[in-house]
Amino acid sequence: MNDTLNADPAELAKFSEVAHRWWDPDSEFGPLHQINPLRLGWIDGVAGLAGKRVADIGCGGGILSDAMARKGANVLGIDLGTRSIRVAQLHALEAGTPNVEYRETSAEALAAEQPGSFDVVTCMEMLEHVPRPESVVQACATLVKPGGWVFFSTINRNSKSFLFAIVGAEYVLNLLPKGTHEYLKFIRPSELASWCRLARLDLQQTRGMEYNPFSRRYWLSGDTSVNYLAAARKL
Ligand code: SAH
Repeated sequence: MNDTLNADPAELAKFSEVAHRWWDPDSEFGPLHQINPLRLGWIDGVAGLAGKRVADIGCGGGILSDAMARKGANVLGIDLGTRSIRVAQLHALEAGTPNVEYRETSAEALAAEQPGSFDVVTCMEMLEHVPRPESVVQACATLVKPGGWVFFSTINRNSKSFLFAIVGAEYVLNLLPKGTHEYLKFIRPSELASWCRLARLDLQQTRGMEYNPFSRRYWLSGDTSVNYLAAARKL
């Protein structure tokens, strides 16, 4: 791994160590399985996935990549977690998912190799795990064609998100393993918006994602104070 690679080895290891459980809905990846239909529906509604060429940045075991391919998109999932990529490839093979491919590479390297080649770029629950998220936002903007869509999801940074996303999710409800998230790496919508502007991405929509621990349901709302998604269009 070289010095300029925009990746935190400890973060990659955290996901790789448990990579064999990516497709177990009762594992620590359960919340990603639960929110998947919600985010898939939103992305599909905004960008129309059928027939589109899609890059999924930080795809992990391929939970979203696989679902987008099943909607008719041609998907390339990338991640720097070696074991996660292997699990994603194996899953595609076993499940017979059409039109999905996975590669171990970074957003920046793929952007240098294939600029302006994708109709849609997704980068979900990943920005808060990298040292320089603004560089990933720039890479996503480079990857997408003019007029194409880039989708992000991450966690806001404020006292409520500390309470809900760290104390609540990791220590009270045990939805996620302790240490999954680091408060200081959370990203305010205003910060994401300014990185988008710098990358010539026109931020068009943000949606909050809320969770009720009693009903165990997730839904999209206008409240972006904890988990949120953003859709931006390349100018
Ligand atoms: N996007 C997937 C997985 C989110 S988990 C989903 O929402 O279902 C975060 C993922 O980001 C992990 O798979 C981790 O390996 C990956 N990741 C962290 N840093 C990365 C980097 N610098 N480059 C590529 N992937 C990275």
